[in-house]
Amino acid sequence: METVGVQLKEETDNSYDILIDGGLFNNLAAELKNKPLGNAYAIITDSNVGKIYGKKLVKNFQNKNLHAHLITFPAGEKSKNRKIKEKIENDMLKLAFGRDTCVIALGGGVAGDVAGFVAATYMRGIPYIQVPTSLLAMVDSSIGGKVGVDTEYAKNSIGAFYQPKKVIIDLNFLKTLPKEELANGLAEIIKHALIKNKDFFHFLEKNIDDMLKLDFELLKKTIKKSCEIKASVVMQDEKEKGMRRILNYGHTIGHAIESALNYGISHGNAIAIGMSYAAKLSAKLGFLHEGSVIRQNNLLGHIGLPHRLSHHKLKPKKILEYAQYDKKIINGRINFILLKSIGDAFISDKVTIDDIKKIMEE
Ligand code: ADP
Ligand code: ZN
Repeated sequence: METVGVQLKEETDNSYDILIDGGLFNNLAAELKNKPLGNAYAIITDSNVGKIYGKKLVKNFQNKNLHAHLITFPAGEKSKNRKIKEKIENDMLKLAFGRDTCVIALGGGVAGDVAGFVAATYMRGIPYIQVPTSLLAMVDSSIGGKVGVDTEYAKNSIGAFYQPKKVIIDLNFLKTLPKEELANGLAEIIKHALIKNKDFFHFLEKNIDDMLKLDFELLKKTIKKSCEIKASVVMQDEKEKGMRRILNYGHTIGHAIESALNYGISHGNAIAIGMSYAAKLSAKLGFLHEGSVIRQNNLLGHIGLPHRLSHHKLKPKKILEYAQYDKKIINGRINFILLKSIGDAFISDKVTIDDIKKIMEE
């Protein structure tokens, strides 16, 4: 037998910056003119964001003599699928986008995840920039390089780890964001505080009303803190081999609810319910004070997010069926994120499906 070894030790630097300010969007074309990331730009966005910002961005690019096209898909989580990815890829191929293309993922989490996934596989991978326009995408999905699509089996079940070259957060986008979408983003911000930073949780309790009124200085501070927490976790465990799982607090049940309802519930609502069950379970297993459960739920409730799902809508049994498809289940054991206290999450492999069922049935 002959053996040919193929030694491929990976040594890559995937570092990038997250820029946060008002007005960055209008400067993007000039910025790329100075420091190009490709010879052509595929701006991928959804139908809502496309209408408000997409055409303007293409114009900005053209004014700077940059080659750019806008590719849009119907807005909503239901578009986060393999068919839409294929459609976008076909559009790009038709427009003769080559390997020297840079993708601009413009929009909420859906646009970011789909466009990032397109970039990850188009011609075996081309660079992309995240330009998140929803609060949720700004503080969560645009950072960390998780890209992908949903299937009828489970959320985000097909995808890749593929880091952007840059994340550009322009606070002005929030002016047009629907109010309920603001709550979705705040749910992830509260999650970041709950898993990692007690002081930040207190800060949120104190300032939540002004944030809802779009106080930009407060939002800038909050978004920065939230990005720092997410980035610090991702830096320690880019490919989610361990520690990064704490970012899934509230998400095992949350994702199962979303899948069971065929994505007919917002992510913020689903994870608020997931976090409330996770906190209850943390208390029941003796890790978390009851008072902390109440504080968590009060803050979530304050921004209009639910604590539980009415059982006539969806039975716990059904939710658990979907939880089985979750990537967090390894060897029949569920890796569940619990809280020891506000600001301190940990991964438990002791939680059984039955524990979760009982909590949901209470
Ligand atoms: P998420 O960002 O919560 O993951 P989506 O990408 O579906 O989910 O975005 C939520 C909704 O908000 C979509 O309908 C999207 O078109 C819309 N949206 C995102 N950003 C803005 C914005 N800045 N202004 C108006 N609508 C926006
Ligand atoms: Zn989430």
